[in-house]
Amino acid sequence: MAEIILNHVKKIYDKSVVAVQDFCMEIRDQEFIVLVGPSGCGKSTTLRMIAGLEEISAGEISIGGKVVNRVPPKDRDIAMVFQDYALYPHMTVYDNIAYGLKLRKFPRRVIDQKVREAAAILDITDLLKRKPKALSGGQRQRVAIGRAIVRSPKVFLMDEPLSNLDAKLRNQMRTEIIKLRQRIKTTFVYVTHDQTEAMTLGDRIVIMKEGFVQQIGTPRQVFHDPNNLFVAGFIGTPQMNFFEAQLCREGERYHLELNGRRLEIAPEKQRRLLQYNVQSQSVTAGIRPEYVLLTDAAGFTGQVEVTEMMGSNTHLHLRFGEDEVVVLVPDGDEPVREFSLGETVHFTFHAERIHLFSRETGHNLEHDPREALTTSAQPPEVPSEPEAQAVAEAEAPVAPAATPEPEAAPETDAAPEPETPQESAPTP
Ligand code: ADP
Repeated sequence: MAEIILNHVKKIYDKSVVAVQDFCMEIRDQEFIVLVGPSGCGKSTTLRMIAGLEEISAGEISIGGKVVNRVPPKDRDIAMVFQDYALYPHMTVYDNIAYGLKLRKFPRRVIDQKVREAAAILDITDLLKRKPKALSGGQRQRVAIGRAIVRSPKVFLMDEPLSNLDAKLRNQMRTEIIKLRQRIKTTFVYVTHDQTEAMTLGDRIVIMKEGFVQQIGTPRQVFHDPNNLFVAGFIGTPQMNFFEAQLCREGERYHLELNGRRLEIAPEKQRRLLQYNVQSQSVTAGIRPEYVLLTDAAGFTGQVEVTEMMGSNTHLHLRFGEDEVVVLVPDGDEPVREFSLGETVHFTFHAERIHLFSRETGHNLEHDPREALTTSAQPPEVPSEPEAQAVAEAEAPVAPAATPEPEAAPETDAAPEPETPQESAPTP
């Protein structure tokens, strides 16, 4: 149990590659934090700096009230699980989990109790006598997690722990991690490129791009109130719709001009725009497919180009002038509406769910403009839909450099261990 404070933390590799820029955050004791972003944005580097596997170029990290910049990994009381969960192939599940405790010379009775407790938490008691080759990918991952939790670390670091699993197993293990989190009272920092994992696991999510923190917030905040265009495009599937529009201010009133039509802006949004004295300007308007509402006759019109039946809802792709708009149509109790290709449908936008981003900087115009300077030093671009999906599905993250080889250093936590396995019973 420990809080982690990152104070203006920076990482420069080889004197020139700036991997992490000015990372500031207070992670509360027992909080579950997810670092998410596309490949190369600095997530793993941040995690590895917390672990002590990577030196910090500037700034300060403290764990449990103690500055750890110069504390070696083994003395930080952390455990780390990597994507590449290296298990000892010749040892049983029991011995794999017990290994770190044996090295630390815990009494045999204590080891047995801890291994059995961990196995019960992870539901692998039946597998304790098996060797890793007789386990599925998900079971192996559980053993790797078991090996980390027996040490009761203050901080649990996980670097893409599920990305080697197939989609179904990944979903299953995601639920397991949520349950695990409820059972062990530890601070978690979890790295993933998958926004669904981030949204479902995190108490708060840190969205990164090119070394810069773009936003820190709860899943609800980053989904409903994205700080900029990048976050808006990265979080949520299907992706948010974006349109070029004109924000018009008349005295203290704002409205939007979009595709030749006037759109009213919700009172709460009016208030925030006024608070930051936002002037008339070209904007990128964003609306999630969930908040595009089909109507009988009123509002905008679009022509059906593609329909994707997703099960409980349909994704309707409409041609809307120069743009495409995706509408998420839930299947209600009514007879399900069928759409034919080329059919004209009418729709409006849920006024309270429209987001307005500066065309120039990508910053959310309802947010304090001073935040734009600190959270996104460069104008963020929106990831294209395929890119966002590719990031979620197909990206093959590079295995961390310090991932131990199974034969060389079997513990996947961050504390380097002696290379020679010590199989003899430890002296109490
Ligand atoms: P992510 O985990 O988000 O994919 P990383 O933290 O691994 O990103 O990397 C961030 C940036 O730092 C990338 O540009 C990457 O190429 C660079 N980088 C990572 N590790 C090293 C290293 N050991 N030496 C030099 N550059 C590195």
